[in-house]
Amino acid sequence: MRMIHTRITVLLAAMLCMAIALLSWRAYEIHRRSKAPTINKRPIVVIDAGHGTFTDIGLLDYGATRHGIREADVVFEIARCLHKKLECNGWIAVTTRDGEFTPLSLIERSMLASYLGADAFISIHTNSFRTRHPSGLSVHYWSEESKQLAELIQTILSTKLGMKDRGVVKHPFTVLVWASVPAVLIELGFISNPQEATRLANPQFHRKAADAIAQALTLWIHSRCDEDTTCF
Ligand SMILES: [Zn+2]
Repeated sequence: MRMIHTRITVLLAAMLCMAIALLSWRAYEIHRRSKAPTINKRPIVVIDAGHGTFTDIGLLDYGATRHGIREADVVFEIARCLHKKLECNGWIAVTTRDGEFTPLSLIERSMLASYLGADAFISIHTNSFRTRHPSGLSVHYWSEESKQLAELIQTILSTKLGMKDRGVVKHPFTVLVWASVPAVLIELGFISNPQEATRLANPQFHRKAADAIAQALTLWIHSRCDEDTTCF
């Protein structure tokens, strides 16, 4: 009888120890998770392919059209490549235009980034001029917190694409002024320049441009890991 009691006591003690160990482990896990920085949180980017809205007279805005190439089509293809590339790199990428048309106004495109709590907003355009000579790419920003991202994108893009570097420019484009997150507008060459228009129509150029922008964005978000909670 005494032996049975001893066994029950040992069994109960063992179960108690296991329960304490399990509770301690649970408490430790809860504590660890609550203290952990959001290391695994995926950063969010809003990619805006320029144009694609209806004008006041009911026509779809295709941006500049030169040499048989429409700006809206070119930037849409680049935005598509960029979306794919960034998703592969661990970002959550959201686009403002999924086809020829978007119902979002310029202000709403920027507001989407704020609404999603995005880490960055990237608007893609091509430049144009009344003569065929101007060439090269430029990156525009408005808020000071966007300047570093603009510089990084400009440096990597001009190096990787071998295009004339027209520098970073502070300019009050609507999508930049209304953005409450770091935001840049990229002018990826002149559609009015015959050589650049030919490149802009080339799918290989779309992929190379998207790769360069994705690389710059990923470098930039990593550089902010210490000061920001968003990292991956
Ligand atoms: Zn444009």
